[in-house]
Amino acid sequence: MKKVLGLFFGLYLLYSAYDVYISGRFSPDGYYEIELGVFKYLVTSVFALLGFLVVYKTINRNEKISVNNETLIEYSKCPKCKKSYNYSELKDGMCPTCNVKTIEMEEYFKKYPEELNDV
Ligand SMILES: [Zn+2]
Repeated sequence: MKKVLGLFFGLYLLYSAYDVYISGRFSPDGYYEIELGVFKYLVTSVFALLGFLVVYKTINRNEKISVNNETLIEYSKCPKCKKSYNYSELKDGMCPTCNVKTIEMEEYFKKYPEELNDV
């Protein structure tokens, strides 16, 4: 998904949250409306949360730049100090503090998926 689309989708969710909160109704297809009553707070929270999550993830996404069909690493993370680096500022991908080889962001979270939760 392109960044702009992600942002648009996130903002749409946030708008839906606002809309549900103001109107107290939710319209999944634009015609049929569900009267939510007190559930509007729940639906508003879910939409708002999803919206923020999508916007956040879109902004913080690890974008790769492809040159001549070769994927360049843009961000990498040190498994020791957990610091994220812009790959281009590293020498041979080594963490300057720990002198440990950093791992490409995407690979890193595949290896330590539990750390995605405290990002
Ligand atoms: Zn380090």
